[in-house]
Amino acid sequence: MYFRNSNSLKTVYKKFPIQLTNSLSGNKEIFQPVNPGHVGMYVCGPTVYSNVHLGNVRTFLSFDIITRYLKYIGYKVRYVRNITDVGHLENDADEGEDKIAKKARLEQLEPMEIVKNYTEDFHTVMRQFNILPPSIEPSATGHIVEQIEITKKLIENGFAYEVNGSIYFDVTKYNEKHNYGILSGRVIEELMESGRQLDGQDEKRNKIDFALWKKASPYHIMRWHSPWGDGFPGWHIECTVMSTKYLGSSFDIHGGGMDLKFPHHECEIAQAVGANGKDPVKYWMHTNMLTVNGQKMSKSLGNSFLPSELFSGNHPLLEKGFGPMPVRFFMLQSHYSSTLDFSNEALGSSEKGFRKLINALAIIKKLDHPGSQQGDAALETELNRLVDECYLNMSDDFNTAKTLAVLFEMSARINDIKSGNLSLNKLTSECFTTFKNAYIGFMENVLGLKEEKAQDDELLNGTINVLIELRKKARTDKNFALSDKIRDDLKALGIQLKDGKEGDMSYTFE
Ligand SMILES: [Zn+2]
Repeated sequence: MYFRNSNSLKTVYKKFPIQLTNSLSGNKEIFQPVNPGHVGMYVCGPTVYSNVHLGNVRTFLSFDIITRYLKYIGYKVRYVRNITDVGHLENDADEGEDKIAKKARLEQLEPMEIVKNYTEDFHTVMRQFNILPPSIEPSATGHIVEQIEITKKLIENGFAYEVNGSIYFDVTKYNEKHNYGILSGRVIEELMESGRQLDGQDEKRNKIDFALWKKASPYHIMRWHSPWGDGFPGWHIECTVMSTKYLGSSFDIHGGGMDLKFPHHECEIAQAVGANGKDPVKYWMHTNMLTVNGQKMSKSLGNSFLPSELFSGNHPLLEKGFGPMPVRFFMLQSHYSSTLDFSNEALGSSEKGFRKLINALAIIKKLDHPGSQQGDAALETELNRLVDECYLNMSDDFNTAKTLAVLFEMSARINDIKSGNLSLNKLTSECFTTFKNAYIGFMENVLGLKEEKAQDDELLNGTINVLIELRKKARTDKNFALSDKIRDDLKALGIQLKDGKEGDMSYTFE
């Protein structure tokens, strides 16, 4: 019954079938990919006009875990996460400046300099949190031709119209045959009545219509030729183009933050159905928001902080800095579909919890089985149950919180082994290997938790101090050649030794 043979990892998904909450139905459904054994997943990436904020980190972290687990249990995954580098206007009514063009104007840079700077910032933060890169990371500006093509198709199919060089999607027309609101539950009549009339909307037949292509004013920097004159694409169309180009017209999972459900994702469905005649996505998944001390995290409330501020503790709301790994652990302690509340207390206890699990990881990595053949049946049943529970919890809508609870139970067993309370002679080699592989696999491969760099720093500092002591000894022995060599070799590595009073030495990194 128990999963024991690590060679069969390739098809673990058959033994622990995944159930996930599909935003389309609002229900937990059994995951059945379009092509058995393969998963195509698209996640809306960042708009690269400012530093990535923690709410975004949580979304990308959630889909990192999902990708990692799908791969771990044997699926072949193609994960596409885009970079939005054009077309995202300041408000959802297709008015206002392009976010990137505006930032470029304010910082007196080329839009593509803004894109490069903030894409690099985004990648750095992703690396810090140990969020793996996607299989493909396409950019909107790299797919202008395809966006023009699909816009032409939507006009041909009667779902889009041109006004003064701009193209709009005709929501009312679409809704005659299809269901606009299928994902968000919005009702078109209510949408038509609610909301204020924004300036410049007179071009649209209806205010709920949205732009596929916008005519560029003479001063607009980001512009491309099109059959309708110079312009730039609307925001929603890029995701329809890039998801279906790399994953096919019907693919498995589309994800993003909850705030993207409407209008962005609703528009994506309408565009794809309008162009290709079929639903693009089988399972929609949405991550929930971050709160700070119970309040929504937002720039205007002054309670939002950047990842770098969280690491340094340099923010009025933070008592100290927290490393990326304890923060990753902290985020995994709640389900991706629940809100997650930041507080100093919660982060502090996450640091402790993280340390416990990481210590047990270091211990079990060094443990080897003594080779006994006989096991204690009850004990083996318990350890096998723990291993199975890791899979069951992750297959149950990627429940990281419950998986962590099981890992804590496993870490207690690992500590028992270390202290001698649990003898490895009571376990067969097979049972021990399964247990060990599962603990390491779920910690490192699935949850992406690893030793903090601070530990490496500790090691480095310790090593330098040993060299400092040797140098002191060399000087006492009047072996100046050796003392100078230690100083010069460290300097070559970028470590500057400073001689202080009474033979004290300190060092700095250059
Ligand atoms: Zn998108």
